[in-house]
Amino acid sequence: MSTPRGFALARLDLRSFDRSYAARCHVQKPDRYRLIEALPADVQRITRGAGVSYVGASFGEDCVVQDLGVFDRLVEFDAEQGLLTVEAGASVGDVTRFSLAHGWLLPVVPGHPRATIGGCIAADVHGKNPARDGTFRRHVEAIELFDPTAGWLALDADQEAERFEACFAGFGIPGLIGSATLRLVRAPAAYSMRSLRVASLVEAGEVLRTHAGAPVLYGWHDARPGHFGRGVIRYGLEAKEAERVSGRSAADLPNTVAPWPLCTWNRLGIAAMNGWIQRRYAHAGQQHVPVESALFPLNEARAYYAGFGSAGFVEAQWLVPHARYSDFIEALQAAVARLRPRISLIASKLFDGVAQGLSFDGQGIALAIQMPQPKAPRQAAFIEALTALALEHQARPNLIKDSSLDAESARRGIADFELARECLRRFDPGALQRSELTRRLGL
Ligand SMILES: Cc1cc2nc3c(=O)[nH]c(=O)nc-3n(C[C@H](O)[C@H](O)[C@H](O)COP(=O)(O)OP(=O)(O)OC[C@H]3O[C@@H](n4cnc5c(N)ncnc54)[C@H](O)[C@@H]3O)c2cc1C
Repeated sequence: MSTPRGFALARLDLRSFDRSYAARCHVQKPDRYRLIEALPADVQRITRGAGVSYVGASFGEDCVVQDLGVFDRLVEFDAEQGLLTVEAGASVGDVTRFSLAHGWLLPVVPGHPRATIGGCIAADVHGKNPARDGTFRRHVEAIELFDPTAGWLALDADQEAERFEACFAGFGIPGLIGSATLRLVRAPAAYSMRSLRVASLVEAGEVLRTHAGAPVLYGWHDARPGHFGRGVIRYGLEAKEAERVSGRSAADLPNTVAPWPLCTWNRLGIAAMNGWIQRRYAHAGQQHVPVESALFPLNEARAYYAGFGSAGFVEAQWLVPHARYSDFIEALQAAVARLRPRISLIASKLFDGVAQGLSFDGQGIALAIQMPQPKAPRQAAFIEALTALALEHQARPNLIKDSSLDAESARRGIADFELARECLRRFDPGALQRSELTRRLGL
């Protein structure tokens, strides 16, 4: 590719967080708006935030990656209304720390604190309790977007409303988001965190439904035959001012976690890690935890991700409708007993939204199933069986997480896939926006 005039392109190797995809890419790291605008309008491109998607959503062969990392400034803050305008490269960790310092909170943040506001819009991410707070789209007031042909556009629910909606789970296709105005909520003093032991994933579903109103609500579960589904539901309630606790969260998880030479998540390692979770979390009583630590517990999980080794992992996340949930769990348990895959962890969450476009939303229980060495034959056979089972039970896949998903399964799992795809491409008629994700799923 010849270098377009006006800026430098570096050749860099980029890799998805789960290490399933890598590509040698042309990367532009603009540090002023005129350099974003300088990329010739016919050049294929994709916008990159922090690059912490499990899948290869913000890079691809044969396209220019526009890395917005430098655009991370706070632009405007209305401390009365809780409206915060930030550049799209600002991380949710930084936005959370700034907001908390002023008594406000962005209620939906993903588990990785370095995910950017642009990346959270483009993947319409969920936070610690999607059943209560919905997905990211619920908390965005307005977007400034750059279209290679039309230039800068102001989008909100009234102006360019269709394009505004398309940005959520638009995976960068409707254009480059330069900044966004976020609607914050009043922050609690801390969270009062509790853990409830569960013996199965069916019981986990019941406990999640019982605590649907808690601002923090999720489960971690063992998947080994004999222990299948055993785990803890963590839920946090807003603490009173008198219960405020201070203390800094662990340092932000890095964008790229350097893998250890070998995969430690063999059967012994998985047993040890699940035992540790039980000892650390499955105790009665409550603990007051700073808000930032409750939102980003994965800051303590660096070794967990390094332990997948250079062969990486896959996280398949499926939202299973309530009516099919018990049957799905029974079938999943049978498949685990039959195929004996290695599953390092299953995470559970409750959803109570509407399945819009390509967003990961709807009503049911979401299970995120993390599996090391996805290309090993036994693992690959299980992943295939899991996809088939999930589709059979009308579950919806999370496109931003699951590298193993193919185009046909995505279309079967999302009833309106084709409609949503056409709607996105209306804003990119020349199909300029391309990534590994858009290629794999035929988006
Ligand atoms: C450890 C870990 C925990 C996670 N926890 C959660 C979770 O709890 N909930 C959840 O929903 N997700 C979660 N995720 C997924 C993650 O939040 C999303 O993949 C998010 O999109 C990553 O943001 P990013 O800035 O790294 O985006 P990137 O990975 O850089 O890009 C993601 C997509 O956004 C687009 N994009 C990025 N910036 C812009 C922009 N400025 N304009 C237009 N398009 C843009 C890209 O083109 C791409 O399609 C987690 C991921 C990890 C690794």
